[in-house]
Amino acid sequence: MSKIPFVTKEQVEEIVKTYPTPFHIYDEKAIRENARELYKAFSWNKGYKEFFAVKATPNPYLLQILKEEGCGADCSSMTELKMAKAVGLGEGDIMFSSNETPAGEFTFAKELGGFINLDDITHIDFLNNECGVPETVCMRYNPGGIYELENGIMDNPGDAKYGCTETQMIEGYKKLMALGVKHFGIHSFLVSNTTADDYYPTLARTLFELAVKLKKETGAHISFINLSGGIGIPYRPEQTKVDIMKVGEGVRKVYEEVLVPAGMGDVRIFTELGRYMMGPYGALVVKAIHEKHIYKEYIGVDACAVNLMRPAMYGAYHHLTVLGKENAVCDHTYDVVGSLCENNDKFAIDRELPKIDMGDYIVIHDAGAHGFAMGYNYNGKLKSAELLLQENGSVKMIRRAETAADYFATFDFDPEISAKLNQ
Ligand SMILES: *Cc1c(COP(=O)(O)O)cnc(C)c1O
Repeated sequence: MSKIPFVTKEQVEEIVKTYPTPFHIYDEKAIRENARELYKAFSWNKGYKEFFAVKATPNPYLLQILKEEGCGADCSSMTELKMAKAVGLGEGDIMFSSNETPAGEFTFAKELGGFINLDDITHIDFLNNECGVPETVCMRYNPGGIYELENGIMDNPGDAKYGCTETQMIEGYKKLMALGVKHFGIHSFLVSNTTADDYYPTLARTLFELAVKLKKETGAHISFINLSGGIGIPYRPEQTKVDIMKVGEGVRKVYEEVLVPAGMGDVRIFTELGRYMMGPYGALVVKAIHEKHIYKEYIGVDACAVNLMRPAMYGAYHHLTVLGKENAVCDHTYDVVGSLCENNDKFAIDRELPKIDMGDYIVIHDAGAHGFAMGYNYNGKLKSAELLLQENGSVKMIRRAETAADYFATFDFDPEISAKLNQ
């Protein structure tokens, strides 16, 4: 089984004349089509909105594309809020789902007209003291224990630092109401990167039942329920994409079953997906520049974990395609590695691939979310450019590659050392 890259060898050979490897490239057409399908899946809910999790792919050009498709932004820091503001997102377009929030960020989120999502009951006083409570406030819920889906997929919210207990949700709502809050939201994120079609419907039931209870016990008006992120993508070629129409329909059924009879048929459904919106529509394109034959066969490429950290950090699988050899037999076994002085800097281990020659371009699939974003500068390595394959087939740079001057920029308080570093 294989995955087909959205760029061909011929296209990459053309692109590298202007933008050398390594680079991240995103597929605008596919991003838009996927966003439209998501909106279709939730079109039964009048106020539905997706708030793209900015942390997954923080690039204003991509936020702009998603904005044009109706999406807002889910932010968790000052810089993410600034990026959302820069593309013109404002009143009702921003979720601020932060945790351990530094001073000043609630104020800025409130000024932008974002929905503030409190991770903890103690944040109520923190928020109120800093800038007063807005008219609408969301609280993040953590049911504790083990959260299990039908097919056995599970996660362990009891071990997670996020969210409030049920008792705290009730107490928090009462406290916020006393402070003058008029409308409420509920948010929860319980399972990450799952391709199970029943995750959202299962989570929806948990949150809808909680909503009914909160309304009963506090009289609060609940205006939205945020199912957050977590919908996964098929990183492996044998996996299948989530059937988003089925997911939307599953949530609708639970909505009709739990919320409508409780007189809560006006509740808006929100999502704040990251990976699902962007993951498959971005790729890291690298070039094979070294090979070595010791106890194993290694192919060294011109990128490293700085450009894509998931394999090094989680042992995550990313599919590789050697461009121009899509149909060649995979009769070689390679470790495809980056240049960090860290032995975990391996994009693939014991991967069956066609024979790789020096100069071959390799597409690392599904790098569009939590890819470039997680980059860092270990070993003095610089971050790559980000490119956009536009709908008309042309390529546009949407972030330039870092330079040594960028790397040294934080020494600019000392003109003498700065000059030496940059000479
Ligand atoms: C990371 C995150 C998301 C997005 O998660 P994905 O797995 O990329 O969908 C959404 N909401 C919050 C609060 C997050 O921390």
